[in-house]
Amino acid sequence: MQIKCKKCGKIFGYDIWGTIYPGGKEKEDIDCPYCGENNGYEMTSAFVRTYTLETQNKNNDNNKNITQK
Ligand SMILES: [Zn+2]
Repeated sequence: MQIKCKKCGKIFGYDIWGTIYPGGKEKEDIDCPYCGENNGYEMTSAFVRTYTLETQNKNNDNNKNITQK
């Protein structure tokens, strides 16, 4: 899953990992790995792990700027 940080605007991904079992769901915060801003939460009995995606999305932005010029 990918999400855009509402504060710094960077794209990051997150995974849910750990043991998922019925009936034990809690709010797990989704925090931006760049600036630490909270970007919502998942209801899960497992954990949320975030990671950066900076190289992939930077390249896409650069290509757009070049073609528009
Ligand atoms: Zn951020």
